[in-house]
Amino acid sequence: MKKLVFATSNENKIREVKEILGNSYEIISLKDIGCEEDIPETCPDFAGNALQKARYVKEHFQLDCFAEDTGLEVTALNGDPGVYTARYAGPERNAIANMDLVIRNLQDKEDRSARFRTAIALLLDGKEHVFEGTVEGQIRAERSGSAGFGYDPIFQPDGFDLTFAEMDSTSKNKISHRGRAMKKLLDFLK
Ligand code: IMP
Repeated sequence: MKKLVFATSNENKIREVKEILGNSYEIISLKDIGCEEDIPETCPDFAGNALQKARYVKEHFQLDCFAEDTGLEVTALNGDPGVYTARYAGPERNAIANMDLVIRNLQDKEDRSARFRTAIALLLDGKEHVFEGTVEGQIRAERSGSAGFGYDPIFQPDGFDLTFAEMDSTSKNKISHRGRAMKKLLDFLK
């Protein structure tokens, strides 16, 4: 089976990406290559952060790889939390506190539309490629569901009555930001 280095230490992302790839590729994580560092993400956009992470691994480990960066953009909050999605409620990166802050900030807003955006950067044979995936949806007034991770309990994708956290992972992966970006990556690799 062909191997791909996925420059992340986020176990939830590794699980989802492994499910999406099935038997087509073997995923090698940062842990597998002995990378324990917290790779800097200091760019103003998702593509920049994904490239920054992939370049770090190429530079320090001399390995072709892909990296991804994801965030939630809420229309009525002018696109926030955006690149600050992980730390919206503070440096602890607490998912419950993050979701509760989004809910609180939307309390008096009529427009509850939002999107998840994923950028994947692939470094392969000396070239850089970026693939993006988005999913549009609505922010629920309360958290609901226990599957998935991060902001899944408050995000209801358009066309569904369920939040991502109320769906099984196969259903989420079919329509999600990450699933869509990964499909573009896979089509490119084919
Ligand atoms: P990062 O891409 O690891 O910087 O993650 C940014 C933030 O988005 C973190 O708070 C994650 O928990 C959250 N996040 C990333 N992907 C998803 C997803 O598929 N569903 C819900 N939240 C997510």
